[in-house]
Amino acid sequence: MSIYVKVMLFQVLMILFPIFVYHLFFNESERRRRKPYSILTIIMIIVLLLSMSFPIRFSEGYVYDFRIIPFIISFIYGGTVPGLITGVILLVYRFIIGGEGFYVVLINYSITCAVLIFMGKKFESFHKNHKLLFISIIFWVNTFIVMLTLFSKNEISQIYFMLVFYTLTWLCLILVVFLIENVNHRMAMREKLQKDEKLNVVSQLAASVAHEVRNPLTAVRGFLQLISDDDNLQGSQRSYIQIALSELDHAQSIINDYLSLAKPNTEELSSINISEEVMKTVALMKSYSNIQNITIETDVQDSLFIKGNKGEIKQVLVNIIKNGIEAMNTGGTLTVCTNEKDGWVSIEITDRGVGMTKSQIKKLGTLFYTTKEKGTGVGLTLSYQLIRAMKGKIKVESEPGIGTTFIIQFPSA
Ligand code: ADP
Ligand code: MG
Repeated sequence: MSIYVKVMLFQVLMILFPIFVYHLFFNESERRRRKPYSILTIIMIIVLLLSMSFPIRFSEGYVYDFRIIPFIISFIYGGTVPGLITGVILLVYRFIIGGEGFYVVLINYSITCAVLIFMGKKFESFHKNHKLLFISIIFWVNTFIVMLTLFSKNEISQIYFMLVFYTLTWLCLILVVFLIENVNHRMAMREKLQKDEKLNVVSQLAASVAHEVRNPLTAVRGFLQLISDDDNLQGSQRSYIQIALSELDHAQSIINDYLSLAKPNTEELSSINISEEVMKTVALMKSYSNIQNITIETDVQDSLFIKGNKGEIKQVLVNIIKNGIEAMNTGGTLTVCTNEKDGWVSIEITDRGVGMTKSQIKKLGTLFYTTKEKGTGVGLTLSYQLIRAMKGKIKVESEPGIGTTFIIQFPSA
């Protein structure tokens, strides 16, 4: 018996040790690369080969090992291609090793492959508990099929051992998923902190500059206003002054943006009718979109209420709609929809514009990040800040060349 315990512990070690090594040395650098998790896949293949090379041999040539763990991990964290590579290596190696029941393994793993490929995209968006549940189901279904084939061959004597071994395998798999999820979560938190910290410093600087510039502007504006009240002015002079005034107002509004960036409004939030605000903002943006040959379609329900600040909501919507319009330089349709579900009101703004890659999406909300010649890279930073202040959430889905959807969600009031 003790030999089994030894081999089992050895299998556990073979899984956990490489994963620790991966997280110690590679995970952080891999996250910055274009193809994340490729080193993880290589490590998983090594783990697979190791665990299949040193299995627990039971009577009659039945072997037990942890092969399913690297197989599942490559699929869900590496993706379809790494998963398939690992799967093929598993099958080839199993064939070389020989032994009964190759076809059972082939069919069983093919089914599991199909399920994993089918669910692959959705997996990322699962909550941690759902991920664990999903993986457990996959594991036990796969295991159950193996058990059935053993029973059909009257290997009932192994059932006790089998249950112990597979439970251990399952625990080990869950542990590995936990480990990867937790480390990833921590790393994401740290990235977010760094981003916020940078934002803090820059926005304080920006605020002090903006503040210094605002005072002279106010003075200039005041004097221009005085001059324009003079009756002796010629018509053309009057219109020049009007232009100067409106340009000054424009400068002032930009500066106000910067200032509100540094000091988000912490006023009391009041209950507002978001449907009304969305419709008003869309009406406001119509003239701007017409110039660009873009139509705005709306699907807005009546009377959705959230807690927030009217002016700020409008500012967020204007920023995002304006970006959507700017992303579609050849014209087209921009849609704005609202709906309410599970206590959250969401506003979806979809454009059929240039779209963004994953790494571009990650940069959204970073101060001064812009890809436009005349952009400021302030709009979204401010919007993200305002949304956060109103206890809302924002999600971005985008596909380069196809379009972008911004989903803003607020708790309904
Ligand atoms: P700005 O509009 O001044 O560039 P923003 O903060 O509003 O600043 O946006 C930052 C960047 O995010 C833009 O320059 C653009 O590259 C990208 N972006 C924002 N919205 C979209 C969108 N709907 N489609 C494609 N890219 C977008
Ligand atoms: Mg913008």
